[in-house]
Amino acid sequence: MKEPASPPAVLIGDHPAMDFLNTHATPGGLATEWLATGTELLRWLEQAKLMDAETAARFRADKAAAAQLDVVATGARALREWLRAFLRRRAGQPLPAAAEAELGPLNLLLAGDRSYARVAGGAEGLTLQRLRRWETPEDLLQPIAAAIADLVCHADFQRIRACEGHDCSLMFLDRTKAHARRWCSMALCGNRAKAAAHRARRRSA
Ligand SMILES: [Zn+2]
Repeated sequence: MKEPASPPAVLIGDHPAMDFLNTHATPGGLATEWLATGTELLRWLEQAKLMDAETAARFRADKAAAAQLDVVATGARALREWLRAFLRRRAGQPLPAAAEAELGPLNLLLAGDRSYARVAGGAEGLTLQRLRRWETPEDLLQPIAAAIADLVCHADFQRIRACEGHDCSLMFLDRTKAHARRWCSMALCGNRAKAAAHRARRRSA
């Protein structure tokens, strides 16, 4: 049986860890889950460019790994809700070093990281690349853990915000120069809010 395809990934977070958080969201007021199964997790990793198409196809073709992929998707959803709780407590203010005490689940995942480095030549000369072995379904959580680690170590937590749209739960890292980003996107929420404000003004005029 072919499972119904989830809508395309919403990649408005301006950081892969924020995009991961947004794999459960309520765009337009409709609750949507992007990581319901292992197949969906593979599709999301590919769309978020955390996994190449060839590796995703190899995992998809491995029928013996299918059940394990679903278990890993359950782990991914648990990791996401852990991240959501962490951001609810910590977003909007500078992240202190004492937050380390709350990062146990993340550090546990990072301890299993089996990525390796390789020196490669390209147009810019020699560069150090980070590569992944992608051997077991558990490896699917590694790029996500690396993204969350990058967020907590390098992002300005004062700039992590929720979209102001009514009924919208999408969150993002505001990297605009003026730090004035308010919406997940103009198409999804910005235009709707403007239209609502316009109607309110007309009513009061
Ligand atoms: Zn929104």
